[in-house]
Amino acid sequence: MIELKSISKSYGNIVSLRDISFKIHEGEIFGLLGPNGAGKSTTVNIINTLLKPDSGHIYIDGINILSHPDECKMMMGVVPQEIALYDNLTALENLMFWGGLYNVPKAQLRINAADILELVGLSGRKNDRIKTFSGGMKRRINIACSILHKPKILVMDEPTAGVDPQNRNHIFDVIENLNNEGMTIIYTTHYMEEAERLCDTIAIIDTGSIRAHGTMDELKKISGARDIITLTLSGISEELVNSIRDEHSFTVLSSSPKSIKLECDNISDQVSTLVNHVEKTGAVIKNINTRGANLESVFLKLTGKKLRD
Ligand code: ADP
Repeated sequence: MIELKSISKSYGNIVSLRDISFKIHEGEIFGLLGPNGAGKSTTVNIINTLLKPDSGHIYIDGINILSHPDECKMMMGVVPQEIALYDNLTALENLMFWGGLYNVPKAQLRINAADILELVGLSGRKNDRIKTFSGGMKRRINIACSILHKPKILVMDEPTAGVDPQNRNHIFDVIENLNNEGMTIIYTTHYMEEAERLCDTIAIIDTGSIRAHGTMDELKKISGARDIITLTLSGISEELVNSIRDEHSFTVLSSSPKSIKLECDNISDQVSTLVNHVEKTGAVIKNINTRGANLESVFLKLTGKKLRD
């Protein structure tokens, strides 16, 4: 549905995007995950036609957005990072204003606005001025303003920045509801928990390059990130450590007289084999701690650094 081909963008000497390419399929929640300065905003601003790349092409449903920006704009809703609302207008007045910019006929706009206020859970506050809203509620109205023309694609740039957990969950519900109705979502974030919770596919971006792209399972495979298990034992011998290394598909990350830390492909499949093996040697297991591979370990494997360095 959306295809970026060899997009590059620099600001003077600063290279913001280096030859990035990826595809987003219809109906996906696509996450663009990377640390601050990675190039996420530049990418989404190129997709939403605010910025022009130095080179490369972008297609939406086969239409070249660089040569047909107006046509493509109508297919998209854009939720900017900064809240763009009029404080002295009510929620409904803000919606009517922003919807008017997309040329939605007034009668239809009223219907859409009522539906969308319901969707974001703020129907009861429609006649209150925005200045009386909390930050999280403003974010929800900000999202509402971007979908009044019923776009096929919603482009969101860090929509939960500065939002408390309750409002964040509300925003996730809104995104999931829109996606269930068929909307394709492009979502940038530097929070891996958000990408993991929300996104069907994730592209990891760092210093202007896409490091990997795929589902969570695909990213684990691509990066080689594995599950980790730590056993606390009484009586760890060198023989035990060697036998685990020899007989099972574990990598020994570290061992001490009291504990052993291992890496494996799939904890849930392999933990019982490991426990049986250890118990047969007479060692007593005091504690088992497991941690599945997650985006944090994927990011670390791919880039050699933590997402929030
Ligand atoms: P992110 O959204 O991942 O935080 P950005 O796309 O905003 O990253 O920025 C990517 C890089 O481009 C950064 O090095 C940033 O400083 C630079 N950059 C972004 N916008 C501008 C601009 N208007 N002028 C100069 N440099 C910019």
